This record gives sequence, C-alpha cells and structure tokens, in this order.
Amino acid sequence: RPAFDRLDPLSLDDLLSAEEIAIRDTVRSVLADRVQPQVAGWFERGEVEKPRELIRTFGELGLLGMHLDGYGLPGLSSVDYGLACVELEAVDSGVRSMVSVQGSLAMFAIWRFGSEEQKQQWLPPMGTGEAVGCFGLTEPDHGSDPGSMRTRARKDGGDWILDGTKMWITNGSIADVAVVWAQTEEGIRGFVVPTDTPGFTANTIKHKMSLRASVTSELVLEGVRLPADAALPDVTGLKGPLSCLTEARYGIVWGALGAARSSYETALEYSRTRQQFGRPIGGFQLTQAKLADMCLELHKGLLLALHLGRRKDSVGLTPEQVSFGKLNNVREALDICRTARTILGANGISLEYPVIRHMNNLESVLTYEGTVEMHALVLGQALTGENAFGAQR
Ligand code: FAD
Repeated sequence: RPAFDRLDPLSLDDLLSAEEIAIRDTVRSVLADRVQPQVAGWFERGEVEKPRELIRTFGELGLLGMHLDGYGLPGLSSVDYGLACVELEAVDSGVRSMVSVQGSLAMFAIWRFGSEEQKQQWLPPMGTGEAVGCFGLTEPDHGSDPGSMRTRARKDGGDWILDGTKMWITNGSIADVAVVWAQTEEGIRGFVVPTDTPGFTANTIKHKMSLRASVTSELVLEGVRLPADAALPDVTGLKGPLSCLTEARYGIVWGALGAARSSYETALEYSRTRQQFGRPIGGFQLTQAKLADMCLELHKGLLLALHLGRRKDSVGLTPEQVSFGKLNNVREALDICRTARTILGANGISLEYPVIRHMNNLESVLTYEGTVEMHALVLGQALTGENAFGAQR
C-alpha cells in the first residue's frame, strides 16, 4: 500500500499522464529558477521589472496560447494549460494573470473570432511573447454589466472611429495590441487596436494593494481611427467577450489553487517548525483542524478542476460549469490563504512569506472575470430559471 503523501493526499498525480506531469514539472522548475526569486520584490515595489522580457520567457516555455492550435501555437490540452496555471499562480496571481490575459483573452478573441489576416498578423508574435496583448471590456462605470458599456465605434467612410475609456485592463500599458469591445449600430463588436494608433493612451493604475506584480491600466480612446478590417468579423453581441471570459475563467479555476497550494504548504511547514509552549504549533488541535480543512478544500478543488479540464477536452463545458468552478475554487483558495495567514501569526503579514501576497492577490481574482456574486447568480439562474441580475433584458 503506498504511503500517505501530505502534499498529494488523494494521489491525484495518479490521474495525470506522464506527459502531463512532465509539463507541470518543467513549468514549476523554470518558474522557480527565473521568476520566483524576484516576485516578492516586484509585489513590494508595485512594479514588475522588465515585464516584456518576462512575457518572452513565458513564450519560450510555450505558455502563451498554450491550448490554442495553428499559427505556430502549442495546441496542448486544457488539462495541460490548467496544470501550468497552477504553477504560475503558485508563484503569483499577477504572473498567471499576465499569461491568462495574453493567451485566453487577447489571443483567444483573435483566434476564435478574427479574420485570417488578423490571425496571421498577431497570433505568431503573441505566442512567442514578442507582441503583448490586452483585453478591454470593463469601463469605469460598467463592470459586472458590460452590456451597458459606453465605448462607441462609429463608421466614417470605410473606417471605424472609437471613443471611450476602459478601466482595470491587465497588461494595458505594455501592450502592442488591445482587443477593445465597443457598441456599434449592429451591437457590441470587438476591435483589434494597435496601441500606437493616434488617440490611444494607456495609463498605469497605481495604489493597488492586490496584484501588485501585474500591470493594470486605464485605456483612453479618443477618436481612434481604424481601417474597416480592424473589427473582429465573426461575432456581434455580448456573447463575443463573454465566450472569451469563459475561456479565461477556466484557467482561474485551476490557477487560484496554485496560490492556495503555496499558502497551504507554507503553513504546513511553518506548523512543523514553529514552537510555542514548548512544542510545534502543528501539535495543537486547533492548528490541525485548520490544516485538515485547508487540505480538504485544496484537493477537492483540484479534483473539480481536473474533472472540468477532462470534460473541456472531451465534450466541452457549459458557462455554468465554469462558474461553478470559478466560484468554488477562488472562494476556497482565498479562505485557505486567510487561514494560512493565521497559522503564521505575525509572520503571516510579512512579505518574507508568500501568504499575505497570495491572500491580497486573490481579492482581485475573486472580483475579476465575474465577481463571486455574479457567478452565484449565474448558478442561481441555472438552478431556478429566474434571472436575479436586476434589469430584465
Ligand atoms: P461592480 O460591477 O461595480 O460590482 C460591485 C459589487 O456589486 C460587486 O460585489 C458585484 O458582485 C455587485 N453586483 C453588481 N451587480 C450585481 C447584481 N446584479 N446582483 C448582485 N450583486 C451585484 N477587466 C477587463 O475588461 N480586462 C482586464 O484585463 C481586467 N483586469 C483586471 C485586473 C484587476 C487587478 C482587477 C481588479 C480588475 C480587472 N478587470 C478587467 C475588471 C474586472 O473584470 C471588474 O472589476 C469586474 O468585472 C467587476 O466590475 P466592477 O469592479 O466594476 O464592480
């Protein structure tokens, strides 16, 4: 009988192929070498050093558009991508966000809805990290309700003219290309906007206490003139951005558990070495109960992520299934980080340990890509048939 492994108590590795384990372990070891040592410093300073070099490192590793195929992209499975998201977020949610936005939002939008010319132009350099992308949906006054967005695209001869402001846009100030969603006479459409187009400005958002190792920006579009072929041809309406979000949320279902794993392992180790009242704090029943609950939720979450990943690779997922995963796994991951924080006592608030960084980061993850409340409402609607979002559309 195999021995109990406290880092893999359910023997989940047995559910992975040798190739999947090899991909996970490679990503883990490259990140440990090249990113992990710097990340707490970036968080402390609120600035990622050389973000464009970082994204090229991720390109070399094959992490950008990892589960997309064609155009020189790796075409790996959704489970491979999920396993990579865990490793990225075990380093920092900001690092995982950089990869998610590039691959699952900006690249996915072009890959899924773009013209052949748009794909040829952008997907190969975005896959290597030579070109950086961002995804502009949220506005200062419209977050959970993007259908009310004010950004407008109007036709002027053969061109499009875009005006509006997008807010909280990951990678915005380092991007070469922005996928911007705007109202048109036909409904919401996506536009591929090179960021050097006159009238386009990106301003970095300061004073964040979460995702500090990630670039977040405001995008201002003032009379941005684009050729007719800048619009994504293959989608009109909110289903365009929402299907990109479903794609990116899938990565979060896995990724959030990376932050949780890092916090859990830190707390477990700490509980075995920290002594109070002459014995390790891991010997106290209250600490053991906390560790047991963290262990349960972390590994239940991983089982859920793996189940969703296998279904995505076989029959596909419904948006409600992705909401199920995002709601559960981000909420539980945050709870695990908060509990780990208590086990570390005063050390829990120090950046010498990763726990408070993960905890603060997950406050953003709980809110972005659909707040925890919106995902509860998605499930609530699916369960009851009643739309509780507010205004009926
Ligand atoms: P609001 O929509 O104003 O919500 C405020 C509160 O009201 C929440 O608790 C919400 O759940 C609740 N609420 C709203 N409506 C209802 C309702 N009908 N019923 C019950 N409760 C409700 N956006 C992008 O487009 N691209 C990005 O790259 C991006 N990156 C981000 C990075 C960071 C670090 C952060 C913090 C955000 C990012 N976002 C991005 C924006 C993010 O997606 C939005 O913040 C999110 O959708 C929530 O919108 P909001 O902040 O405007 O909150």
